[in-house]
Amino acid sequence: MSLPDLSVAELQAKLRARELTPLDALDALEARIAAVDPQVQAYLSRDLETARAEAAQADVSLPLGGVPIGIKDVINVTGQPCTAASKILAPYRAPYDATVIAKLRAAGAVPFGRLNLDEFAMGSSTENSAYQPTRNPWDLTRIPGGSSGGSAAAVAAREAFATLGSDTGGSIRQPAALCGCVGLKPTYGRVSRYGLIAFASSLDQIGPFTRTTRDAGLMLNAIAGRDPRDSTSLDQPVNDATALLGRDLKGVRLGIPKEYFVDGMDPQVRTAVETAIKQCESLGAELVEVSLPHTEFAVGVYYIIATAEASANLARFDGVRYGHRADAPKDLLDHYKRTREEGFGSEVKRRIILGTYVLSSGYYDAYYLRAQKVRTLIRQDFTNAFAQCDALVCPTSPDLAFKLGERTDDPLRMYLADIFTIAANLAGICGLSVPCGFGEADGKKLPVGLQFLGQPFDEARLLQIAHAYEQSTDWHLAAPAL
Ligand code: GLN
Repeated sequence: MSLPDLSVAELQAKLRARELTPLDALDALEARIAAVDPQVQAYLSRDLETARAEAAQADVSLPLGGVPIGIKDVINVTGQPCTAASKILAPYRAPYDATVIAKLRAAGAVPFGRLNLDEFAMGSSTENSAYQPTRNPWDLTRIPGGSSGGSAAAVAAREAFATLGSDTGGSIRQPAALCGCVGLKPTYGRVSRYGLIAFASSLDQIGPFTRTTRDAGLMLNAIAGRDPRDSTSLDQPVNDATALLGRDLKGVRLGIPKEYFVDGMDPQVRTAVETAIKQCESLGAELVEVSLPHTEFAVGVYYIIATAEASANLARFDGVRYGHRADAPKDLLDHYKRTREEGFGSEVKRRIILGTYVLSSGYYDAYYLRAQKVRTLIRQDFTNAFAQCDALVCPTSPDLAFKLGERTDDPLRMYLADIFTIAANLAGICGLSVPCGFGEADGKKLPVGLQFLGQPFDEARLLQIAHAYEQSTDWHLAAPAL
């Protein structure tokens, strides 16, 4: 086992015991990145000099003391680029730390490296980056998922011990599933979004990618909590997310949403997920069939609400205050038009146009207002389901990682594959994906993710359940051959 294979918990123990220094950890990652990132293309930029200076000062007695953490390029770190993988923010440097970054620093971590994503987090494959596609470490001809594809691929490829991503409609859980790592979307309101470039503000949530559920809990402990700078962060007690790890599944009721086992799912995903659910049962969990009857509307509702909010959030990128600015505009209108025409990629433009349309005066009631009403029904589905069980268990993605370029011309097909992840964002509940096996395509092994969904602010319980499953398998130990 080499240094970059260590989990966060293992690395931290070695740092604390002075068997390793934070600089050793950083240097080992840098060597790994130099060796494999030309193929994986997970990182957009790194400021090694600053990271080394911070690592040299790190207090290893803190919970994440000396641990380098990769950051999705949509979360501000003072002095560093934050491009959102868009040309429109190419010249931008962040003037302040996001709250999650300040909290990571307070826990002793070293924010290190900027990770690729779909432009403004819009996409499911990381092909919408204006800079480079990221590749799946298990098969370099395939996508890593998205939008936090860089954050997932870096953890899977041992180019990071842990990373941060954001999940608006699955962007942490889906790439975690396709790359074979753990991805946790906290409850809406659990983690401050101050300093996160907003996509859809009623859905966005920051969370970690790690190789183990324990590490996910350690990361959540560091970033969770009420922040006066984000009025949507809730004043809930931040209990230790790792407190319940080690408890077994006896007496745990797991709900299986029948709408999540539909035709059209890849048979290899179905087999892996069904096997994993049986494993949970053999560990003592009680399985209950539950129904989420409004599931079929989730994709439509999400793509109305998310695009509506995006069209408003992205209005600020006008070339006046920051980022790219068109050359020699004729007048103000020409300045706005050309700045945005040149700065945004085609998926972002599609979302802005869709969002503007559903909010426009003649259509607001028919689309946006209606979508909000159905969103309430979707949330109600979960409340009803949680009356019968402690957590839900289901697939994370209906497919294995697909080939680069395979779906770029078919946005609808891309959107439909978000079916199992987006309802959790609409309902605001917490969810995570944990490795549960492999499928195979073209002679290559491709990871499958098992999703657990939990009640609001019940992350500790969710992690307990996922941990019990994880520890009864070896899936989380598998590493891609690069
Ligand atoms: N795939 C979804 C989308 O394209 C999810 C994005 C996200 O969670 N950021 O909107």
